[in-house]
This record gives sequence, structure tokens and C-alpha cells, in this order.
Amino acid sequence: MHDTKQVAELVESVDKGQDAQNPKKLTEFAKTFLTEIGACEVGVCTTQTLAGGPPSTDLEYVLPGARSAVSFAVPMDQEKIKRYLAKESHADHQADNIHVNFMVTGMASGLADYWKQKRIPSVGVAGNGVYRHDTPGGMYDFKPNISHRYLAVRSGVGWFGFSGNVITPSHGASVILGSVVTTAELEPTEPLVEEDRYCDDCKLCLASCTSGLMDEEERTSVSLGGREFSYSKRHHFQRCDLVCGGFAGLAKNRKWSTWSPGRFDVPDEEEKVGDALIEAVVASLPRPEIPGGFRQPALPASHKLNVTCANCQLICHPERNERKRRYKLLTKGGVVVQNSDGTLEAMTSAQAERHLAAMSPEQRAMYEKT
Ligand code: SF4
Ligand code: SF4
Repeated sequence: MHDTKQVAELVESVDKGQDAQNPKKLTEFAKTFLTEIGACEVGVCTTQTLAGGPPSTDLEYVLPGARSAVSFAVPMDQEKIKRYLAKESHADHQADNIHVNFMVTGMASGLADYWKQKRIPSVGVAGNGVYRHDTPGGMYDFKPNISHRYLAVRSGVGWFGFSGNVITPSHGASVILGSVVTTAELEPTEPLVEEDRYCDDCKLCLASCTSGLMDEEERTSVSLGGREFSYSKRHHFQRCDLVCGGFAGLAKNRKWSTWSPGRFDVPDEEEKVGDALIEAVVASLPRPEIPGGFRQPALPASHKLNVTCANCQLICHPERNERKRRYKLLTKGGVVVQNSDGTLEAMTSAQAERHLAAMSPEQRAMYEKT
């Protein structure tokens, strides 16, 4: 029987013989490792290819001495997305979305831990829900430790669509992004070539957004390692919080909504958005719990967050006709209300009005300003 030292020496000599730690081999290994467990796209950035980027591209923020990052995408279930957009099933896509998010976090940790065992310091970046504490508003500024989006566009995992979501050639924007930061020197991959950037400015993402986050004309751009990337300029970020938090989501024509049961107004004036969010949060706190959901550190421990929108992401399929079909599903699916047991239900606009009118003034105040 071999002793453990002999086994370690044997493994090390095989790795050495195969030159397993050279940048090309390590890069190929990362792609294989992540693809084998569910990634649909994998790319690599380095400190050079991210040079000049915003603070959330500073790899050393999570790992001193970091030189490279592996970026990857994992697809969500397309059939569940269609039923979610049509408002036929909230639970199925919500569960899939949460599951894929945690899977991505686990996949990133898995590769990082594998490399750490091989004495290559590495960190798996969580898929979502980790924010910097060293900004003026701390966690509530919602500044990520590392931006998966910037790493993804620079490494060719996807490209910025008009919406600002990362759109992948294989699964559109319906992916969850992950990153692994490492001290290893890896071979960077190139941004997507023009023919793989399918965004044609159809603006169905804009049409499916009830918050007014995206500017229709102006764009914002970012430079990463000498390459320029751009997407629609963002208005007040808390517009999206109002809708994605489940406080608002009714379309202007009041005929369709997101899965948000709340119908508080999203003010046109930027300076009123912050107060509108606080007012809606306070009014909504006593609502019954929606089935499913996930714990979010920005909320009290007693409360869960639910997936109620993401329309701009889920509508954005690589095929334009499929985008149009999804937009139709969304806008013909009715509006959502909450029942007293917490469940969500889609119905016509008129039925929803009657549902709200039948509530006591205290109940109704949890959903809209009366
Ligand atoms: S929905 Fe249309 S405009 Fe928006 S990102 Fe996708 S392809 Fe671009
Ligand atoms: S998630 Fe919803 S509210 Fe937020 S930008 Fe996308 S469509 Fe608009």
C-alpha cells in the first residue's frame, strides 16, 4: 500500500509531466471543469484586459495578488421562463432562478477550491447578493464586490444588450453569471465578434420594463483593457428596486403587470424615487408571505425576496421572433394580485380592480396608495 506522501508525489509528477500549470492548460482546464458541470459559456479576463475598468473590475478586491478571472454563464430553463412571462406559473421559474443562482455560486467555489488544493490561491465569487460595505451607504449602495457583467463581456461570455444585460449567443440573457478569481496566470479570451452580438435594438426589453430604468436614447459606456462597451443609460437604480422588490409593476395601460402584487407608483421625477421606495417598503411589510422566495441580506431576517420581474432579461432571446412571442405572452397575461394566503394570481385588469376593491382599507394599503 502506498503511503499518502507517495500518492501526493505521484499526482504532482503527473501534473508536472502534463505541464498542468501552464497558462494555456489551466485555461483549458477551467473551461472543461465548468462546462462539464453545466456552464454554457466560459471565458477568461486578466488584470491587463480589465485595466482602466470601474472599481468592480478590481480583482484584488477579493484576492490580493489576483491576476486572472474565469467568467461563466449557466442557462435557466426556457420553458419555465415562457410560463412565467405568460403568468401561468410563478413558482416554477422562481425556483429554477434561485436554484441556478446557488448552483453558480457552488460551481465557482468548486473550481476555486480545486485550485486551492493544487496550491493556486483562488476565490469563487458568489452569483448574487454580496455587496461592498466600504461605500458611503454600505451594503445599501448595492455595489458588488466583483461585477460578473463586466468580466463576462470582456472575456466573450456575452455582449451587452441595449438593456445592459449580458446576452449570450446560445441562451440570450436568460443566464446566471459566475466568476472565479485566481492568482494563476491564465490566457485571456477575446470579446464576442460582431456576428455573435445579436442585439438589434428591438427595444422589447424597454417595452417590457414598467420601472423606466433604461433611457431610450442615451447610452453609457465602459472601457475595459482598451475595449469599449456600451448599453442604455440607467436612470435612478431604485426604479428597478421598486418593481423587482414586488412593490410596483403595473403597466401604464393597467392591462398587464409583472409578478409584483404591489401597484405603487414609480414617480417620473428622479428625486422622488427614493422616498417612493421607502414608502412602498413600509406599507408592504405586513403582507402575507409569497410562497417560495429567498433570503436577501438587505431585508430583515424575517422576510424573503421573490422573483417578480427580470422581464428585460427573460424576454431577450437570440431569435427576434421568439422575443416578440415572449412580449406578447407578457402583455396578454393579465395583472397579478395577491390572495390572503400569500399566493399570487393573474387575472384580467377588471377582475383585479374588483379584487382590490373588496379588500379592507388596511389590506388595500399594503398594495397601493389609496
Ligand atoms: S430585447 Fe432587443 S434591444 Fe433589448 S437587449 Fe435584447 S435584443 Fe437588445
Ligand atoms: S428587472 Fe424589471 S424593473 Fe428592473 S430593469 Fe428589468 S424589466 Fe425593468
